[in-house]
Amino acid sequence: MTPGRPETLKRPVYLDYHATTPVDPRVFEAMRPYFTEHFGNAASASHVFGWRAEAAVTKAREALAAFVGANPREIIFTSGATESNNLAILGAARARSAPGAHVITSALEHRAVLDPCRRLETEGFAVTYLKPDPHGVTTAAAVAAAITPLTVLASVMAANNEIGTLNPVGEIARVCKERGVLFHTDAAQALGKIPLDVHALGLDLVSFSAHKLCGPKGVGALFVRAVNPRVRLVPLVFGGGHERGLRSGTLDVTGIVGFGAAAEIARAEGEAEARRVFALRDRLWERLLARVEGLSRNGSPSVCHPGNLNVTIPGAPADAVIVEARDLAVSSGSACTSAEAEPSHVLLALGRSRAEAEASIRFGLGRFTTEEEVDWAADEVARAVAKVRMERAPPLR
Ligand SMILES: *Cc1c(COP(=O)(O)O)cnc(C)c1O
Repeated sequence: MTPGRPETLKRPVYLDYHATTPVDPRVFEAMRPYFTEHFGNAASASHVFGWRAEAAVTKAREALAAFVGANPREIIFTSGATESNNLAILGAARARSAPGAHVITSALEHRAVLDPCRRLETEGFAVTYLKPDPHGVTTAAAVAAAITPLTVLASVMAANNEIGTLNPVGEIARVCKERGVLFHTDAAQALGKIPLDVHALGLDLVSFSAHKLCGPKGVGALFVRAVNPRVRLVPLVFGGGHERGLRSGTLDVTGIVGFGAAAEIARAEGEAEARRVFALRDRLWERLLARVEGLSRNGSPSVCHPGNLNVTIPGAPADAVIVEARDLAVSSGSACTSAEAEPSHVLLALGRSRAEAEASIRFGLGRFTTEEEVDWAADEVARAVAKVRMERAPPLR
């Protein structure tokens, strides 16, 4: 903290927007009536409670579809990007199952893609896990080289959740289409951060999550292309035949309304927000660079999610830094893998050593991040790193 500056900063400071985001108050206001007055089941066709719920779901579906360039009937609501990834990967592969059928993905995917791919291996599918380039990019050429006559599906994320790298999903979609391979992308981190038009990019299946977009947790969507080609999926859940039979179960009307509101806000404000967040992210990087010796950056500095900064700090294990800077919420590696206390599979796949991966911190900036927070965070990390390094240094005589 700069001496003499008034202490206005509210702590703790949240810089972990890749893990989840706060619900925008406007989203919360849109959702509120659907908890209480408008509590109907969207599948109740015989009364006004059901009609109101159904109308609200339709409006949200249209808002999300307009935002991503889809037809509303191509949007299937789910419980989040994890379920969307499972439905896309297991559903598309099983629908095209044949002896020796082959699936392509990248080693940098979220666990919600890697685990269903592992599951497919137990079902007899062959899976290729592509190694990225040094910036973490999976190129269209790498995907093209891996395609065989038996390949049925490729899945490569749009924006990486740890290092923020963006993949050329339009180019990958093109090489897949040429070879008759379906292409899925996990766009949980990309939605609202970078322009995304599913038809312009030629995507077949795209996963989304509301809570990465200042919407509520527990709701997501899967874009399923309806024409050219019409993508067929084997459902994971059977029941009332909701969502065109692809995802049975009473719809989370409240959550879906929140997702729709979040999509409308991101559509109107996303570009300006991305510019603002990008500038804050660069400010954070420059201030860290000036204060912390030996710092290096993971991922691609230019082709990157606007709010992502992933750094390696030699001689300062991330867990020790995070404990020391306890009023700062950041992540060491991805939240999902850090529960297992394993170094990040993403950083290892980039060629970082185990020690380097364990000395890496992910910052995630977003809608409500301020300049004051960024400045404080840089000072606080510098202080914590100095302390950790001193404690680890051999005693001087
Ligand atoms: C958060 C995230 C997911 C999981 O989304 P949920 O909606 O929490 O299930 C999947 N993929 C990526 C890239 C993510 O960032």
